Amino acid sequence: MNEFNYQEVIARIKERFPAGTVKQREDIGRAYIPNQVYNDRVEVATQSQWNQEFREVEINVPHRYVKVVARITIGPHFRDGIGFCEINIDESGKAKRLATAVDQAKAEAVREALDTWEIGWQDLAPYYQDAKDWGSNPALRHLLKTAPPALHDTNTQSASMVDRKCIFSNCGVKLSRDEWELLGYIPNLDRTRMTYCYSHIPKHIKKKIPAEKIEAFDRKAGDR
Ligand SMILES: [Zn+2]
Repeated sequence: MNEFNYQEVIARIKERFPAGTVKQREDIGRAYIPNQVYNDRVEVATQSQWNQEFREVEINVPHRYVKVVARITIGPHFRDGIGFCEINIDESGKAKRLATAVDQAKAEAVREALDTWEIGWQDLAPYYQDAKDWGSNPALRHLLKTAPPALHDTNTQSASMVDRKCIFSNCGVKLSRDEWELLGYIPNLDRTRMTYCYSHIPKHIKKKIPAEKIEAFDRKAGDR
C-alpha cells in the first residue's frame, strides 16, 4: 500500500473537476457540485482512507427542523460540518417525509465539512464573481488561474480496484472496490487491518454482513 501523504491527498482533493461538473439549480440558478461527485473525489484521492461520522442528529418536530453534525476524517485531521433541513408538517401536525429531511441535512453537513478543504472551489469561483459573492474576493483570485482538466483525467473516475490486498495466507489479491465496501458493512471490523477478499472472509465474520449487502454484492458480481 502507498504511504498516506496528507499534503498530496489534499492537493488531489482540491484539483479542478472536468468541464460540466458544476450544475445550476433550476429554481434560483445557484451553482453547485453534486454530493456524489465530492464523495467520489474523496474516495479516490484518499484511496478509501477517510471516514464519515454523524456526531449528532437532532430531529426537532415542534420547531420543525433537523440538525446534523458530520465529522469527516482524512488522515490525522478531521473537520466538522453542520447541516439543517426544515421539516414539513401535514394538516394533522405530523412530520412529512422525515427521512428525506434527515438525508438532506446529512448531505449539507458533509458538504460543509468537505468545503473546509476547498473541494470544488476552483470550479465554483467563476460562478461567484459578483461583487457581493465570495469568488470575487481578490484574496481568492488564484482560484481562477487553472484550466479544467480533460475529461479522461483518471483522478475523477472511480477506480474499480483499491490499493488493498487480502491478508489471507498466500492470497494477496487486490480487492475490488465492491469487496472493500462490503468489509465496511461489518460491525466492529477494522478493515484496514482485517482486509479480506470476498472468498477469504472468515465465516463467523461473513455472518455479520447484512443480508441485503451480500445480495447486492452477488448481483453486481453476477453482472460482470
Ligand atoms: Zn483472499
